Amino acid sequence: MPVSWTDSFLDFFFPPVCLICGIRIVTGINGKNTFCSRCATQVLTVGWFCLRCKSTGVEKLPCACLLREQKGLARLYGAAWYEGKWRATLHRFKYYSQPQMARKIGSFLGELISHNSYWPLPNVVTAIPLHGLKLKERGYNQSALLARKVAKELKGPFKPLLCRVKNNVSQTSLSFRERRNNIDSVFMALPNSHQQISGKSILLIDDIFTTGATMEEAAKTLLSGGAREVNGAVAAIQRKIF
Ligand SMILES: [Zn+2]
Ligand SMILES: [Zn+2]
Repeated sequence: MPVSWTDSFLDFFFPPVCLICGIRIVTGINGKNTFCSRCATQVLTVGWFCLRCKSTGVEKLPCACLLREQKGLARLYGAAWYEGKWRATLHRFKYYSQPQMARKIGSFLGELISHNSYWPLPNVVTAIPLHGLKLKERGYNQSALLARKVAKELKGPFKPLLCRVKNNVSQTSLSFRERRNNIDSVFMALPNSHQQISGKSILLIDDIFTTGATMEEAAKTLLSGGAREVNGAVAAIQRKIF
């Protein structure tokens, strides 16, 4: 994929450095370099992740679960497993006021999807919203920043479609069952978003997929608003929690 003018401009004045370790990367003619060769081997790609049987596939799923009836999130794509250096990188992006990291993380995820010929192209890309209080506290919605970059890679529109009506307790401090109960009716479709939701294939973006409760709830809200299908893509999927 050709590098855009703005990316070439940024690369000229700010030579690309590895997203993980920060060392300078020598760019190829067409390369949007995200990682140095050493760190690249430590970011383990997930690709497609089956929400039913938990199998994975870089190009597409090896199972037939998708053919069954869908009631929530239809497909899930993960850039990499939530572990090691990738986990530390996403933690830095989310909790240490580093919104500019969204440029590389979002492009990384967007490129993986856009190069995957089996992944369905969405009509619209949206993000898991933050509650207003949390947005004020953090200063940015990390998922929305990623979604904008993913939409750019897919050459499609990004639209905020949901709002969070309940400021639920941080998921990380809860057990699996508590997390499930904590998420009921958290989202609502934004006023005037009906046209963007109804009949559309929507790609929902979040930074990290843990239990899947947040994504499923958001997908159900979009489906009850008339969406044709909702697929999800995340920067990382947590292993061994199912
Ligand atoms: Zn590196
Ligand atoms: Zn399966």
